Amino acid sequence: DGRIVVAGLTKQYKNLRAVDNLSFTVEPGRVTGFLGPNGAGKTTTLRMLLNLVTPSGGTATIGGRRYADLSDPLRQVGAILEASSAHKGRTGINHLRVICAAAGLPRRRADEALELVGLAPAAKRKFKGYSLGMKQRLGIAAAMLGDPRVLILDEPANGLDPEGIRWMRGFLKNLAAEGRTVLVSSHLLSEMQLLADDVVIIAAGKLVRQGTVTEVLGSM
Ligand code: ADP
Ligand code: ADP
Repeated sequence: DGRIVVAGLTKQYKNLRAVDNLSFTVEPGRVTGFLGPNGAGKTTTLRMLLNLVTPSGGTATIGGRRYADLSDPLRQVGAILEASSAHKGRTGINHLRVICAAAGLPRRRADEALELVGLAPAAKRKFKGYSLGMKQRLGIAAAMLGDPRVLILDEPANGLDPEGIRWMRGFLKNLAAEGRTVLVSSHLLSEMQLLADDVVIIAAGKLVRQGTVTEVLGSM
């Protein structure tokens, strides 16, 4: 399955312990928020999950395997780690087709992913003319190209207007309802209350609390 298990995960940068013996789980079929102030260690944790940063200790697994040991990681795990960037003169659809070609995915997946995020009408417009919300959606479309069962999104609601956040909520809830695992970070409590079913809160690299949004954020 697509369960994420983080166990004793630690990342030491010289004098700074960015992630400190962190343990939590993320269940399929739910939207899980990963909440903490800037500098808490969220991005470092997500990058360790994706094998982009090497842990100093502990493990992070997806469906029981480390990312590096997944048989077909791009089809199993989709991720956006920062505001989507694309060649500015390229159209949205071409951006996705280039990724499909590089990843060995069928070209039709580009059209399907654009449709999925509601960007089909802007398929042939150039990236440089996209609004921030459209750029975020294009990033999500790129993460969805491989039809992954696990989605990891770092601050996807950053800079979105209320309508964009409402769209994101519906989109993520649908993915979870299909049984996918959705892990989404934010430094804003208000975003987590809107977007997530469960929440994992960290501060200074350490776990503060994990539970449902109602039980954890309702009691703050
Ligand atoms: P968050 O995503 O919660 O804002 P980060 O994971 O980006 O937090 O950063 C956690 C801490 O680790 C911060 O103090 C940051 O400056 C530091 N940090 C992140 N990456 C590195 C790195 N490659 N080298 C040194 N320090 C880093
Ligand atoms: P690693 O692969 O060792 O986990 P990264 O590839 O994330 O590290 O970063 C490489 C280098 O970039 C780090 O050693 C650090 O010097 C610098 N760096 C990146 N992000 C940060 C940050 N947020 N704060 C301080 N230094 C950083």
